[in-house]
Amino acid sequence: MSYEKKFERNMPVCLECGDRIRYGRADKRFCSDDCRSRHHYAQARMGRSFRRRILNTLSKNYDILEGVIHSGSDSVDLMDLCAMGFTPSIVTSYRKCGKHEEYGCFDIKYIMTQTRVYSVSKIQNFD
Ligand SMILES: [Zn+2]
Repeated sequence: MSYEKKFERNMPVCLECGDRIRYGRADKRFCSDDCRSRHHYAQARMGRSFRRRILNTLSKNYDILEGVIHSGSDSVDLMDLCAMGFTPSIVTSYRKCGKHEEYGCFDIKYIMTQTRVYSVSKIQNFD
């Protein structure tokens, strides 16, 4: 391999377009200002979309948990909740409470096991 080929192989690659970065500092990450702004715009858009998906999921979980509270029952089968669209892995808080695991969705708290969600209630006072 020629010296030039070896030299080119060690050149950094633009994070946006994948072209070799031929000029500038060794830690340069983009080949041009266009690539830099395209990359940052795409990153911001992905961040917004991720945040929106999480918030939508939390909002849906909240509606479902409120439904449980309004139904007068504070205990429900986890499978039934999931069938309604509940996503157990998305929560706003978690704490180990003795041998229970207490989760939160904004101001609603509940205890969740592998099969049931119970003690669903609104938090009365925040501390
Ligand atoms: Zn580029």
